[in-house]
Amino acid sequence: MGCFLYILSIMANLKKRTVKNPSLNSKTLLVCGGAGFIGSNFIRMVLDRYPRVRVINLDKLTYAGNPDNLRDIAHDSRYYFVRGDIAKQGKMMEICKEFRPDYIVNFAAETHVDRSVHEGATPFFQTNVLGTLKILEAVRAFPVSSFLQISTDEVYGSLSIKSRKRFTEESPLAANSPYAASKASADLLCRSFFKTYNVPVVITRCSNNYGPYQTPEKLIPFFVSQLMVGKPLTLYGDGRNVRDWIHVDDHNNAALRVLLSGVHGEIYNVGASTEISNIALVKKMLRHFKKSTNNIIFIANRPGHDLRYAVDASKIEKQLGWKPKHSFESAFLETIDWYKAHQQWMRRALKRIGTPNAHISH
Ligand code: NAD
Repeated sequence: MGCFLYILSIMANLKKRTVKNPSLNSKTLLVCGGAGFIGSNFIRMVLDRYPRVRVINLDKLTYAGNPDNLRDIAHDSRYYFVRGDIAKQGKMMEICKEFRPDYIVNFAAETHVDRSVHEGATPFFQTNVLGTLKILEAVRAFPVSSFLQISTDEVYGSLSIKSRKRFTEESPLAANSPYAASKASADLLCRSFFKTYNVPVVITRCSNNYGPYQTPEKLIPFFVSQLMVGKPLTLYGDGRNVRDWIHVDDHNNAALRVLLSGVHGEIYNVGASTEISNIALVKKMLRHFKKSTNNIIFIANRPGHDLRYAVDASKIEKQLGWKPKHSFESAFLETIDWYKAHQQWMRRALKRIGTPNAHISH
């Protein structure tokens, strides 16, 4: 009898943890900002997984939106690309009216913190806030099953390097950079549309992503591009700032799970508990290139530079049964090798940017 009850309780627990994921087959998915780093990996994953999905990619193709990222699936009959700006008056309404999406994911954003600090925040608020508002208004007019807003752990601000604290979904919003402030503002807009109009919004707040197809102004591909032409690597301050890294495929698996099974109105942190200081990361990279630490140059710290990010992802793990699969040790080196092996992609991506990180270039 005891054994029987024990088995029953295990089955009940299993049932609780097994979240039913609806399928995207026979559905239309609108991806905003799908030509960037995370969005392009997301679209490829969705097309691989669902043979009968229809994917619309609405992207403005800024310097960060790169058609090369999706060249391999550009002629897939299930995939439609539309060049357009989510913030432009009427654009989202027009797209939603034409394609009647069942689901929407918003990756579209201005994303480079350094640009928000050194070049001005206006484009960040234009796309990240006004653009999100336009999506929410369109979802009100043309209801969907779920709208996923891709946010960031940077909305929580910074943690002390010495503490063991991690951000939970209850941590207060304490954005420190104009980029983070624009993302936090968008999160609040999403919350208000859920509370006021019952718009079916879910939000993910993920830590730093790594993987293929990242715009080479961001730390990992930028440093690889520097090393490949024999240039030094520039680190802010003493390089002790800590970031919490996750492979882009792990983030995208989480995003898909939240889109399909997340509770509307809820926020889900996404992270892989891989905290590493910038200096340690750069040393790993230099070892892989068989170069010495003499290739590092330390420069004055960035204003408002967050010390440490660390994400507690136990909510999505417990409630939606998601877990990261990649080990940083191997996937980080595979990522570096991917950039080394895709030199033409790198050259063309650098050309789109112009001079990446001109303010710190040597
Ligand atoms: P990215 O800069 O590589 O790509 C952004 C994409 O959005 C580009 O394709 C760009 O052309 C498009 N875009 C920009 N403005 C647009 C507009 N007005 N209308 C339509 N398209 C527009 O960014 P990413 O690193 O892939 O990040 C995607 C999302 O994930 C962002 O919302 C970002 O805040 C969030 N995020 C990123 C990370 C990370 O480590 N990269 C971590 C957490 C959250």
